[in-house]
Amino acid sequence: MVLDRCDIIHHLAEENRKANESLYQAAYNTKVEHVGESVYLRGLVEISNICRKSCLYCGIRSGNENVARYELSDEEILSAARFALDAGYGSLVLQGGERQDKEFVLRISRLIKEIKSLDEKAPLGITLSLGEQSSETYRRWFEAGAHRYLLRIESSNEQLYRKIHPQDHLHTYKSRITALEALKRTGYQVGTGVMIGLPFQTLEDLADDLLSFKEFDIDMCGMGPYLEHSQTPLWQYRGTLLPQKQRLELSIKMVALLRLMMPDINIAATTAMQTIDPLGREMAIMAGANVIMPNITVQQVRGDYQIYENKPGIEDDAAISKTKLEDFLREKKIPIGYSQWGDSLHFINR
Ligand code: SAH
Repeated sequence: MVLDRCDIIHHLAEENRKANESLYQAAYNTKVEHVGESVYLRGLVEISNICRKSCLYCGIRSGNENVARYELSDEEILSAARFALDAGYGSLVLQGGERQDKEFVLRISRLIKEIKSLDEKAPLGITLSLGEQSSETYRRWFEAGAHRYLLRIESSNEQLYRKIHPQDHLHTYKSRITALEALKRTGYQVGTGVMIGLPFQTLEDLADDLLSFKEFDIDMCGMGPYLEHSQTPLWQYRGTLLPQKQRLELSIKMVALLRLMMPDINIAATTAMQTIDPLGREMAIMAGANVIMPNITVQQVRGDYQIYENKPGIEDDAAISKTKLEDFLREKKIPIGYSQWGDSLHFINR
């Protein structure tokens, strides 16, 4: 469906419950028609909270001295991968803080190969979410076997991007765009996304975010509500934010609108949604999302990967998270694409 800037802003501002429900239903129908009913799962492994960057919204920013820094061992990462295989998740996401040193780059290449070789007949699909890297690094990791990459633009408004990042060479809007272009050129299925309900952000900004996804012709999207963290500089603006429920509602609307605009991409129902409402991710599934990334990080370090506070499931282990999620989907009669990669049809169709 073609939605122009005016239409999008109108939908984002809509307060009528019935109107919003019919938007969600239309998006759900579009999803079923173009990518099917199934939800695809990616086991999320938070490999390390060590980060060179100091993004003003993020709890694990390098400037936060209250964080106990950790790095999972190879064995811990491989055992999470084995869990994903056995659970029929089909894909794995390796996410972590940003590092560009040689040791890190080589380690990731090696881990990708080892994960791929755990089951040679039906290898896991691998998505990376390891921030901005050189095109050389992206190429190495792609050749090692990763085939999808998530790098959120955070906001497509350059002025707003500047307000939520430190002003130095490590945090430029330009380098974020360059990285996204390099990922695309390398051959990855590329996912991006934004935080919704940031300080200073307007509905116009959010409409422009959606239009920029279409323009960049993304394959996947992960977006969710911004959640204030008390150990970050943006905490000072907490009094200016929309109530959390409204940030969640806006996020669900963004999912629905994007589904209508880009019917065959993959859209994730994100953990930040679940933080505001235990059923937040499921609401997104009912409004057009088709991917969920259950956390399968070992329980001992989950509390140290708090990009935002009150992250759900910190007390749970991977098996408990799995049961909770599957029970809900079963209840709603939504099938799970077990042991499949669930690649972006948009990428395949291109
Ligand atoms: N270092 C990786 C992974 C970052 S964490 C990278 O840069 O891509 C993944 C996402 O969490 C970020 O892209 C950001 O959009 C989101 N995030 C960080 N802090 C947040 C907060 N306070 N509220 C909501 N989302 C947040």
